[in-house]
Amino acid sequence: MYDPKHVVHRPTKEIDKGKFIENPEKPERIEAIKDALIMNGFDNIHSPNNFPMSYVYLVHSERYVNWLKNKSASLQPGEEYITELFGYDLCFDTGTPISNITFESAKRAVDVCLTAASLLSGKTNLVYALVRPPGHHATREACGGYCYFNNAAIAASYFLVKENADGVAILDLDFHHGNGTQDIFYDTDEVLYVSIHGDPDTFYPWISGRENEIGEGPGEGFNINLPLPAKSDWRKYSEALDQALREIKNYYPDVLIVSLGFDTHADDPVGGFLLKDDDFARIGKAIGKLKIPTLIIQEGGYNPVANASTAVKFFTAIA
Ligand SMILES: [Zn+2]
Repeated sequence: MYDPKHVVHRPTKEIDKGKFIENPEKPERIEAIKDALIMNGFDNIHSPNNFPMSYVYLVHSERYVNWLKNKSASLQPGEEYITELFGYDLCFDTGTPISNITFESAKRAVDVCLTAASLLSGKTNLVYALVRPPGHHATREACGGYCYFNNAAIAASYFLVKENADGVAILDLDFHHGNGTQDIFYDTDEVLYVSIHGDPDTFYPWISGRENEIGEGPGEGFNINLPLPAKSDWRKYSEALDQALREIKNYYPDVLIVSLGFDTHADDPVGGFLLKDDDFARIGKAIGKLKIPTLIIQEGGYNPVANASTAVKFFTAIA
């Protein structure tokens, strides 16, 4: 599932340590994946349908959605609004600029994910939503980490509300902890959130992703963080992956959503792990073996060349 209109979403900058730097969340990341998959025979590509905003409100507050909509509408083409302080306004970092087309671009990514989710409900047991902007850092009330609407959380809510799913597991394989997804489902047992990511003592988003964050209330025990140190390679990673997949199996979900980031690749300029192309084939194979209907949603991955080779390995193995 893919929408070519994602290319109009072009955040240009972010603020790192007080300085403006180039924003790596570029259209080329996703175009490279699409082209490589088509060349390798994955050419069953569909365009999204339009879904009502009520699905976005399953996850995000009206206050936040209105803020994002009005902020987008207030900007001229080419103009970017960026928060210059952490936690200022309804954006929790300084890396997530808003332009005049941000709101509609974020909504289109949601539509791609919801269309993919609706396909999964039929005879198809594996669907890939190749989207940007990504979603897993967005919380109920705030954007951040290049994310505006939490695509995976909205898809999970779709399965719970619309398809009466008995339980949804989210496996977050992006290099960065999905603080937004964790936060949204922290107090429920209807969603199991399992994440393997760079240790937040060292890496973004710093505020969350530690092992002692296990959920609360009815959600206690249904949030599992598996942080790994910088330069983790397949040996370390595979132990965490085995554990994550065991937890998912024991949960018996009706649906598995994979928040897939390729920023765990050794050649990624943002992430800090050392995974190689072939390791993604191993990951794909292991997920496929679970035999759970699976919706894969693209999150990060900032080296278009590595994204392309990795996606081909991963999807060949999982399919
Ligand atoms: Zn990431």
